[in-house]
Amino acid sequence: MSDFLVNFPNSTIEPPMTEEEAAVRDACNKFAREVMRPAGIKLDKLSAEEMIAPGSKFWDVMEGAKDLGLSVKAMAEIEPVQRARLFAIATEEMSWGDVGLAAAVLVQNMPALYALIANNQEMLDYCDGKRGCWAITEPDHGSDNLDPGNTSAHPKGEISRPNCVAQIQGDKIIINGQKSAWVSGAMTAEICALYCHTIIDGRPQQGIAVIVPLDAPGVSRGKPLEKMGARCLNQGELFFDNVEVPISHLLVGPDQYKDFLHHTLSNANPYTGLVFVGAGRAAYELALAYAHDRKAGGVPLIKHQNVQYRLFHMFRKLEAARALLHRTLAYNASAETPSLIGACSSKITATQFGFEVANEALQIFGGNGMTKEYPLEKLLRDARAGLIADGCNEFLAIAGGRQLMNSDLF
Ligand SMILES: Cc1cc2nc3c(=O)[nH]c(=O)nc-3n(C[C@H](O)[C@H](O)[C@H](O)COP(=O)(O)OP(=O)(O)OC[C@H]3O[C@@H](n4cnc5c(N)ncnc54)[C@H](O)[C@@H]3O)c2cc1C
Repeated sequence: MSDFLVNFPNSTIEPPMTEEEAAVRDACNKFAREVMRPAGIKLDKLSAEEMIAPGSKFWDVMEGAKDLGLSVKAMAEIEPVQRARLFAIATEEMSWGDVGLAAAVLVQNMPALYALIANNQEMLDYCDGKRGCWAITEPDHGSDNLDPGNTSAHPKGEISRPNCVAQIQGDKIIINGQKSAWVSGAMTAEICALYCHTIIDGRPQQGIAVIVPLDAPGVSRGKPLEKMGARCLNQGELFFDNVEVPISHLLVGPDQYKDFLHHTLSNANPYTGLVFVGAGRAAYELALAYAHDRKAGGVPLIKHQNVQYRLFHMFRKLEAARALLHRTLAYNASAETPSLIGACSSKITATQFGFEVANEALQIFGGNGMTKEYPLEKLLRDARAGLIADGCNEFLAIAGGRQLMNSDLF
């Protein structure tokens, strides 16, 4: 099976990279090939609890990833468009190695990234070097919480009370409630970027964003979630029982929350898309290698015109997705207001194509694709997560579509 792990052949039409970009790509690809992919194949077979237990390979990956130098603070000095491009290259390469482990490495940076977006140097310094996570969804509010003002709620709908509320009281923020079982990295994080409702005039309102140390009194965690794909990304609930955080940990309050969430989603969604371009590219390369090796009808699969045709469409989808993601990231890194419609378009395109490519790659493996002897069934399970992570694609399309309407006219 290791024959299928070679990078054969180069599968992109990327124009020449700068020295710095090529160095990031090569370092991340090496780490993905030598450490992340082999570890991911083993960790995928463990229970969610075993996966993060002391001594698990998960911890070797997290430790090794530090040497890649991808901390937000270290990269904050780089010009924003170039910084976005370097993160994009790193994200795809690591995800090519393993979706769940790449996501686990990337989500660590979320609190620092949001501190950077909030232009809060104190919190950027505080978050630097700490494993982080981002908690926005709740048991009763998944899509709802990604939708400030609940503009896509049903006309007859009534949004139920939030599951988590933070209130500013003098120089403290008091947090009560819980976040969903889907908080990525929550089981191993040291800090959390918490996005939740607050109470104004006795009514819950969106919202505030605050950095919470997860060793604070009153914080507890649920069990790591068992799930079908992206199993190397630990996820689970966070509970808050009268947790006190100093006001200096506030990133934004209710006045700026809507804009801040717009910035957050516009930034996060393209990186989610890149994770699934990485997964799709891994599947495509494996299928391409397999098509040269496996014979059917008396010839290697690749000699069949229909197989060439299918591989061509896989190639086309990955290139289109990557191009759109990089274009969105470049725009968002330079625009005063980042484009949410661009972020939604690129995330939906990339995750849909990533999943289709993984599915088609499994088909090229025939019956072998279905077995655990070959890597395709895992890749397909991993790729499935992209259609939901960071907002279900249907919901993001509704949110993006709404941006096309000139509401002044109606
Ligand atoms: C791999 C992965 C990683 C994740 N990481 C994180 C994380 O780090 N932090 C975090 O807080 N959360 C995280 N999530 C949670 C994720 O953001 C939610 O699962 C997602 O937003 C959908 O919410 P839900 O699961 O509650 O589905 P629901 O909101 O219940 O939606 C279910 C279905 O109904 C549709 N729907 C919902 N609302 C509408 C509407 N208004 N109009 C039309 N259709 C609608 C949706 O499109 C979907 O098909 C993660 C999820 C996954 C799978």
